Amino acid sequence: MHLITLSFDDGFRRSCIEVARIYEQFGLKACFNVMATGVMASDKYGDVAKGDFALWNELAARGHEIMPHGYRHADKSALSFAEGRDLILRCLDVFDEKLASFERKDAVFNFPYNRTTPDLEQWLPTVVRAFRGGFAEAGLNPLPSLQMKAIRTTGFGPENCEAHLDDCIEKLMARPDGWLLYNTHGLDEEGWGPIGAKYLARLLEKLVKRDDVRLIPAAVALNAANH
Ligand SMILES: [Zn+2]
Repeated sequence: MHLITLSFDDGFRRSCIEVARIYEQFGLKACFNVMATGVMASDKYGDVAKGDFALWNELAARGHEIMPHGYRHADKSALSFAEGRDLILRCLDVFDEKLASFERKDAVFNFPYNRTTPDLEQWLPTVVRAFRGGFAEAGLNPLPSLQMKAIRTTGFGPENCEAHLDDCIEKLMARPDGWLLYNTHGLDEEGWGPIGAKYLARLLEKLVKRDDVRLIPAAVALNAANH
């Protein structure tokens, strides 16, 4: 079995609505990672409109996965352990308060820039189910297990990442099994390393026909693991 998770970061409003619509055409659930404050002021994508918890609750009620991507878009590897931990806990507090379906023990925390520290990697799984951070060749992980606390990923940018994503899928399919966790952002022109809406629809249409592929949100994949 081959699992594929497209892990859409940053909560761009227009992109998230469109991604959810495309996934629903194929009976699939998407995976979104959003900031507690919606703020990305330090980033060149800070001006792109973000969704809010009204939208996140609506998408979650439709079965999509909404997971934390930070209180703000901070690079935790540039902060002290105490500062990084404080920002993560503040983020989780906001999710507890504002996202009806949120359970931190089942959650995946998605590090901005996928930058972690050894201290944070050790501490964070005592608070949440797992984290996404750090990189793996072609974004390939083993199939999920009860013991898995770290999900490694890959991505490509700042321009369109479709060719890179296709290459990662090919590498996954060349293996007997595995889990590709690919870090996507927005659609069309939105965000770092975007993919086209038409490309996404074509990709999902192709993959849902395969018996040896499952498109699945990250926390669903982990929480279904029983070994
Ligand atoms: Zn981000």
